[in-house]
Amino acid sequence: MDAAGYRQDLRQAAELLASSRRAVALTGAGISTPSGIPDFRSAEGGLWQHSDPMEVASLTAFRYQPERFFAWVRPLAQSILSAQPNAAHQALAALELAGHLQAVITQNIDDLHRRAGSRNVFELHGHLRQATCIDCFRRYPSSRLMADFAELGEIPKCRACGGTLKPEVVLFGEQLPYFVVQEAKELIARSDLILVIGSSLEVTPAAVFPVQALNAGARLIIINREPTYLDERADVVFRQDVAQVVPALAQEVMRGQA
Ligand SMILES: [Zn+2]
Repeated sequence: MDAAGYRQDLRQAAELLASSRRAVALTGAGISTPSGIPDFRSAEGGLWQHSDPMEVASLTAFRYQPERFFAWVRPLAQSILSAQPNAAHQALAALELAGHLQAVITQNIDDLHRRAGSRNVFELHGHLRQATCIDCFRRYPSSRLMADFAELGEIPKCRACGGTLKPEVVLFGEQLPYFVVQEAKELIARSDLILVIGSSLEVTPAAVFPVQALNAGARLIIINREPTYLDERADVVFRQDVAQVVPALAQEVMRGQA
């Protein structure tokens, strides 16, 4: 797309955002790839091309072969722990602070939205901040445990019973966190503008969340490198880098306000 077309799309998206009252962002792996975190669900270039995720990252596999799971997840944990929020994460935090964004609903487990300053964050696939013992269900704050694990490769164990600690990330065959999903779903259903950022909308249930709101008249902005099944229902679609578009959009909205 030429530069003039891009400017025009930015203006149009900024107007939608400025005039919305209940905008929410739905983010996926693509918002964190500029921070150096691999898209671990994507077939190409993703971590999962090296092994069958069902074999290592399912709940059953975790119970019976935790060492295989931890060996598989270690590079991901390392990249998450060394990553910094990028300009797109920061722009979303700024939009929330300025009252232009209600919430961020994310499929990512990397904590970068919170670290960028977003407050109302819904993590559909969990996070690494806590871990639970799979035997006695004691819960532990896990930032330190994960750092030790990433550095030394030591599998985190329960201090009380010696059971393996499972980070609060959603594995295959595991339910998504119920209340988080319900709240996120309702927020999206009630929203008047949805920003899809860095998600190809292929992973359910998040992929279908926007449909109800769209049917009720919500507007849609999509910022993603790859096409999505909702592109044709979007008001504006950007294919450029999220770390370029999201800050430019935020800037345009704030400028309009000044
Ligand atoms: Zn235990």
